[in-house]
Amino acid sequence: MVGYIEGMKTQRKLIAGNWKMNGTKASALALMTELKEAPLGRVDICVCPPFLHLESVKAALPAGMALGGQDCAAHENGAFTGDVSANMLADIGAQYVILGHSERRQGHAETDAEVAQKAKAAHAAGLMTIICVGELEAERLAGQQNAIVIRQLQGSIPATATAKNIVIAYEPVWAIGTGKTATIDDIREMHGVIRKYLQEKLDNSDDIRILYGGSVKSENAVSILAVENVGGALVGGASLKADQFLAIASAS
Ligand code: PEP
Repeated sequence: MVGYIEGMKTQRKLIAGNWKMNGTKASALALMTELKEAPLGRVDICVCPPFLHLESVKAALPAGMALGGQDCAAHENGAFTGDVSANMLADIGAQYVILGHSERRQGHAETDAEVAQKAKAAHAAGLMTIICVGELEAERLAGQQNAIVIRQLQGSIPATATAKNIVIAYEPVWAIGTGKTATIDDIREMHGVIRKYLQEKLDNSDDIRILYGGSVKSENAVSILAVENVGGALVGGASLKADQFLAIASAS
């Protein structure tokens, strides 16, 4: 079973660090040195550095820690200047790829259909896809959050998805990088909505981890990770600080 603690029914949480477009090669390696203390075994940890640092981070990766990309192309190869394919990520040793992050949906006008195409390419390359969904603040204020997230799930999860190759990250857009987090009740409700959707669509869907993302830090990690159906966290800003990221991983 995917991500279960050896010999137990307890699923390991996944803590994924999205470094975004930050750091130099030197700072990436310094961070990796500090992450050698990570509590691997009870928790799965994945770091997602910028493409340019993947190779050096891979060389510094502690045994058992995974590597991920922050995006990939929908195409296998060809005339796509500036893009990086899923095969290239797999070739360099990545196991995960983040897709449909709100910064790509907003900053690069990525649609659900494009996210699904990218996820299909990533599955063909053998990658685990972390598919991000989440509503805007105005959509939550209008009470539309469940409908928005279900629409994103419908459009972004390709037919190639199975319980073994997808992770969902619920990231309310208004909570990303803002210091605001959704309330525990809101997280519980949304993760329940997502779990129900997955149960209706995919076999063995209870094995699929549903991460929460949005200003997760050491101070709120214990309470967020304890919420029903929260299978881990997608961490942005705090993943660049070793003490914060290790504390979040230890909160699982
Ligand atoms: C993210 O980038 O996915 C994210 C959740 O960022 P932050 O933790 O900084 O809010």
